[in-house]
Amino acid sequence: MPDTAVAPPLVIPRESHPISRRNISPAALKVLYGLRDAGYQGFLVGGAVRDLLAGIQPKDFDVATDATPEQVRAVFRNCRLIGRRFRLAHVVFGREIIEVATFRANDAGDGEGRETEDDGRLLRDNVYGSIEDDAVRRDFTVNALYYAIGDFTVRDYVGGYADVMARRLRLIGEPEQRYREDPVRLLRAVRLAAKLGFSIDAATAAPMAAMAPLLAGSASARLFDESVKLFLAGHAEPSFLALEQHQLLPALLPEAAAALRAHRNGSLRTMLLAGLQSTDARIAAGKPVTPAFLYAVLLWPAYCRELARLQAQGVDPAVAQQRAADRVTLHQTQRIALPRRFSLPMQEIWMLQPRFALRQKKRVHRLLAHPRFRAAYDFLELRAGVAPELATDLQFWREAQAQAGALAKVDAEA
Ligand code: ATP
Ligand code: MG
Repeated sequence: MPDTAVAPPLVIPRESHPISRRNISPAALKVLYGLRDAGYQGFLVGGAVRDLLAGIQPKDFDVATDATPEQVRAVFRNCRLIGRRFRLAHVVFGREIIEVATFRANDAGDGEGRETEDDGRLLRDNVYGSIEDDAVRRDFTVNALYYAIGDFTVRDYVGGYADVMARRLRLIGEPEQRYREDPVRLLRAVRLAAKLGFSIDAATAAPMAAMAPLLAGSASARLFDESVKLFLAGHAEPSFLALEQHQLLPALLPEAAAALRAHRNGSLRTMLLAGLQSTDARIAAGKPVTPAFLYAVLLWPAYCRELARLQAQGVDPAVAQQRAADRVTLHQTQRIALPRRFSLPMQEIWMLQPRFALRQKKRVHRLLAHPRFRAAYDFLELRAGVAPELATDLQFWREAQAQAGALAKVDAEA
């Protein structure tokens, strides 16, 4: 029997909290009622409860239960079991999936039971546990609240309700130990604080900088996923500023961090922040974003530094560009597993930049027709924001696009 010294929960009654069934997806409600009708406990848990209490519409709904995955499958026809080391039930409603996890203890720190590579740390077995065990193995107090469908109460084992009300992110347990178990919690702290506009509690923030080097031991594929959540979820700029503040940048983007430090006048940082702002604005406007452009922005300082170094050694410019791009990519992917389908277009965005200075007619047509033209042009715009001498290039290519667009229209109508 796992032993937990957890006090009885604080139970927040329906009339005292703002969670309404109207804001819970019908699919999640079906799962909660289905479990209850079959005689099991079922709670809405994690980010969804936190977001609802904070007045944000959750993007997905997770359920925790005392039923085993096999028992969950027996309740729902539309259910499949996933995961090997720790089994989870997915109840599928069209495009929406409700993840149902059996209460468990001693999490190895890879999120809601997702199978991830063992990265050498905390290889305890995942075992089923009580709801109390399930609460304390979670990361932040605000992520450990349970909404019960039977009586519409919220159960709080770790003080998360007060923390949501105070808009504060606080790790459950001893912060340094929790970061050691799973260094990705450092990034989750930054990301959730940026997303929710919460502060990070002093004791949770204090060890962050010292723990940062541990991120080098986290699986690079997981760090890529986490980087996408950090920078492509609409809060890239505040996330980046918090990474700087807590000195996490060198662990995540070592060469970019070094290049930014070495670059005295700060224009590269200004450009990077402008790129993140425009990413956030695109997401707010419902426009598509891609890791290729994002990483072109994030790693540009590193690329510029490497390029300058090679050119100072007298390497031919065209050769130096490709070599700088390859080196920066190689080094970065040792830390963050940026897939080639993103790193190749990222490199193309960089390599196209010098071609904006060339205006011969044939070259103009070729560049306009390049599949990466638009991304490269948007990147030129970011560069021009800190380099006024690029204004004429920018104007030329803006007009070239407009003309090409008008010609295409004439062709289409003819
Ligand atoms: P988001 O809004 O990004 O979905 P989230 O908190 O729901 O935020 P998930 O990755 O979906 O994040 O995780 C769901 C829940 O699983 C969390 O709320 C938390 O309770 C738990 N969890 C996730 N990652 C960890 C971790 N590294 N360590 C401990 N618990 C975690
Ligand atoms: Mg979630």
